[in-house]
Amino acid sequence: MSDRRIVLATRNPGKVVELRAILADVLEELGLELVGVTEFPDVADVRETGVTFVENATLKARAVAEATGLPALADDSGLAVDVLGGAPGVFSARWSGRHGDDEANLRLLLAQVADVPDEHRGAAFVCSAVLALPDGRIADREGRFPGTLTREPRGAGGFGYDPILQVAGDSRTAAELDPAEKNAISHRGKAFRALADDLRRLLG
Ligand code: IMP
Repeated sequence: MSDRRIVLATRNPGKVVELRAILADVLEELGLELVGVTEFPDVADVRETGVTFVENATLKARAVAEATGLPALADDSGLAVDVLGGAPGVFSARWSGRHGDDEANLRLLLAQVADVPDEHRGAAFVCSAVLALPDGRIADREGRFPGTLTREPRGAGGFGYDPILQVAGDSRTAAELDPAEKNAISHRGKAFRALADDLRRLLG
């Protein structure tokens, strides 16, 4: 029987669990098992050298498909602020210069837009999701989670910039949504649910 695994280019077990839930229907329909790249100890980490989400997600998915000989999925995401021309973008996790310091990152961003009036504070979490096949075929989809920047952090849930993005059409920030609510409308959920069509087309 042929190998029906599909590899997610992440070392974060939480992301594998989340993606198994988002893609549950299509994985079952196609008889695929989603596994994390940690199951392939020889696969090296990929340097994210791109300046767009789709470039970085494509680098990761292609590298893992080539190294494993299996179809691979990858994503890249961040916050894109309108008046900053899409920044912090791919630099979201290290905007303050310290990788993963969420508090420093959002404080710096709020300071940078302190003078921006309410009507120009649009921003969105953006996710690019990519499917790469070992034969070089590729598909990409983007998901957006729009809102406006608050002036102070609000809410205790989520991570990253969640406390400063007020959800479009809602009075709450992303950090004030419960996890299921956020997953249902998040950039990542939207990008991967759209990519399910490509999985059917390319692997069905
Ligand atoms: P990653 O590509 O999913 O690792 O995300 C990169 C960075 O973007 C994170 O470290 C966060 O700063 C930011 N980010 C991505 N998605 C979200 C989100 O859903 N909420 C808040 N911040 C996010």
